[in-house]
Amino acid sequence: MVNICCIGAGYVGGPSSAVIAYQCHDVNVTIVDLNQARIDAWNSDKLPIYEPGLEEIVFSRRGKNLFFSTNVDQAIIDADLIFVSVNTPTKKSGMGAGMAADLAYIETATRRIAQVATTSKVVIEKSTVPCRTAESMRTILEANSNKDIRFDILSNPEFLAEGTAISDLTKPDRVLIGCLQTPEGIAAQKKLVDIYTRWIPQERVITMNLWSSELSKLAANALLAQRISSINALSAICEATGADVDEVAYACGTDSRIGPKFLKASVGFGGSCFQKDILNLVYLSEQLFLPEVAAYWKSVVTMNEYQKMRFTHRIVRTLFNTVTHKRIALLGFAFKKDTGDTRESAAITLSSYLIQEQARVAIYDPKVSAKQIMMDLTEPGVGTNEETVKKHVEVCESAYEACAGADALVICTEWDEFKMNQLDYQKIFDSMQKPAFIFDGRLILDAPKLREIGFRVETIGKSV
Ligand code: NAD
Repeated sequence: MVNICCIGAGYVGGPSSAVIAYQCHDVNVTIVDLNQARIDAWNSDKLPIYEPGLEEIVFSRRGKNLFFSTNVDQAIIDADLIFVSVNTPTKKSGMGAGMAADLAYIETATRRIAQVATTSKVVIEKSTVPCRTAESMRTILEANSNKDIRFDILSNPEFLAEGTAISDLTKPDRVLIGCLQTPEGIAAQKKLVDIYTRWIPQERVITMNLWSSELSKLAANALLAQRISSINALSAICEATGADVDEVAYACGTDSRIGPKFLKASVGFGGSCFQKDILNLVYLSEQLFLPEVAAYWKSVVTMNEYQKMRFTHRIVRTLFNTVTHKRIALLGFAFKKDTGDTRESAAITLSSYLIQEQARVAIYDPKVSAKQIMMDLTEPGVGTNEETVKKHVEVCESAYEACAGADALVICTEWDEFKMNQLDYQKIFDSMQKPAFIFDGRLILDAPKLREIGFRVETIGKSV
């Protein structure tokens, strides 16, 4: 029986390892974390993260060949293959070097493996890491362990998207497995290929060298974010000229060389990965003395910040240049639909700006708790403190509650339940101050129909 350990029970480690247990009943999977509360939640009826389909998978294998534990050392000792799926946030301090990924968690986990392993292991980078991180891991492993133990390092970056994690993991576009091009490296790579090909067609399991695999993950996220920033840059031109961003995206997307996906204009991308991974690429380019390359990728993030602020300024400008004491209903706080994850969500930037402008912000999100919203808005660097947040923010139980008495409604997250056929917009209109404004930051509403009701509608990428 193959034993797998996954270090890090987060958005990636949890679902990706649970799917291995679900697909391979003869593989024992133990997911470990230092965070006791997170592990307790994985072992409870209410899992720590929301993903469609995740509960079924976890509940069907937990206690059989899927285990969640804080006993990191024992899981390392027992494992043949160890996934390292810890967080790799952007460093918080300073410019330049400050944009590098903070590899402290990777280093701690790697040192732990070296210290407690008693047999040879295949160590797999699952976290998104800067190119050549595997080299640092190998140095740490070899310097801190018994010389008879062999460590082979693989890169197996994760491409799941939150909200569709389970379908991404069960039917991925591709799985990348990078290794050192040595006989031992290739033998280790084969062990992981053998696991994935149990449910993924062979041609979708792509093998390559270690550094290509590490870089491919950063490159793929940078290209996806670049498409969003490109369409968002065009949305600004649309608003100023009378062009319609949906029509422009459709026209461009029907060119088979461009394709239609990821061409949806919005208030800006969020999530824990896009910005972080691009900043990683920027940092890498700077380290390699490639300033023009660094500036090129940096502009994708600059455009995203600009888009968030441009939309926020549009709200204030439209509300007669003041939001002081006005109630603004913010629908959606997660960075996208079908997830409770709020990391780098555009809603954080939007609400903190509106709070600083003295607005009263009424927030509703179907999957984000009041506690999480409060934590996000009082994080250092966000610009709002606990006292102001308590004074200016109300977290609501429904969209109707948030909108009652509001001057404006802002769509921040594209949850299906905010669509025209799900919410009664006449009822919302009747409950709001007049004139009643709607700002659609996700292009999910039917502006002409809303205007018929009586709303004044402002949509990203459209001038009317
Ligand atoms: P996360 O913060 O949700 O989870 C990481 C977990 O690792 C935390 O629970 C933390 O307590 C644990 N951890 C840290 N150090 C540890 C240690 N030494 N021992 C045991 N546990 C430890 O992060 P995530 O969203 O799952 O992301 C993990 C990695 O995957 C990151 O590199 C991220 O960039 C990458 N990634 C994320 C996504 C995504 O959608 N979230 C998608 C693809 C790749």
